[in-house]
Amino acid sequence: MNSSIIDRSVIEQLVRGALRQTGSSSSAPATAAAARVANPAGWVDGKPNLRVSISARHCHLTDEHVETLFGPGAVLVPEKDLYQDGFYAAQQTVMVVGPRRRMLGSVRVLGPTRPFSQVELALTDSISLGIDAPVRHSGQIDGTPGCVLVGPVGSVQLDQGVIRAARHVHMNLSDCDYYDVKNGDMMQLKITSPDCSVSFEDVLVRADKAAKLEVHIDTDEGNACNLDAATEVVLKKSGCGCQK
Ligand SMILES: [Zn+2]
Repeated sequence: MNSSIIDRSVIEQLVRGALRQTGSSSSAPATAAAARVANPAGWVDGKPNLRVSISARHCHLTDEHVETLFGPGAVLVPEKDLYQDGFYAAQQTVMVVGPRRRMLGSVRVLGPTRPFSQVELALTDSISLGIDAPVRHSGQIDGTPGCVLVGPVGSVQLDQGVIRAARHVHMNLSDCDYYDVKNGDMMQLKITSPDCSVSFEDVLVRADKAAKLEVHIDTDEGNACNLDAATEVVLKKSGCGCQK
């Protein structure tokens, strides 16, 4: 595939924010297990500060693929830091091409680079691309569909790696104590929003000592509950018996 098929002006029109972030105050129930560690990352006034963010379609690239797509010696250029320390939206975008030349322009690259390349889409994106992307936890891409990535210099054929990222919550160990959960557990997220409140089940806990409390949902999920207009967000351990 030749990169000359890219119409830069069209691509620019299609540029979307890589990550629309909505800060919301935590209304999690206090529990006896609440950790009282001094100033855990992301805490405000001695409590977790729950944030729910929409993760728009994006991709992760290997160092090798960055050079193939953007030229020899190319590296990702950070444009905007994400809430999680050390992660960023890069200046670079790629075109994602599916079967029958259906394509998504200007898919943001997130950094830093990874040992494998991966494309994360919402269901609506995967339908428009004509790829039946399964819901997977990030990094679990065995047997998933592939695609072609096109950059300004070259293109890459991915044999696998197109997924819909499972909804998940990043948290550190103090957050885990507070909510009485551990890595791999499932939680429930209730979003109260005018005329379209939604309760999300199956919110996967991704615990890391360096993480800050943040739920990631995709654009379809964020649109379903009109996250920008949400008046309350509540995160709970699934099956804790305290659900109304
Ligand atoms: Zn995430």
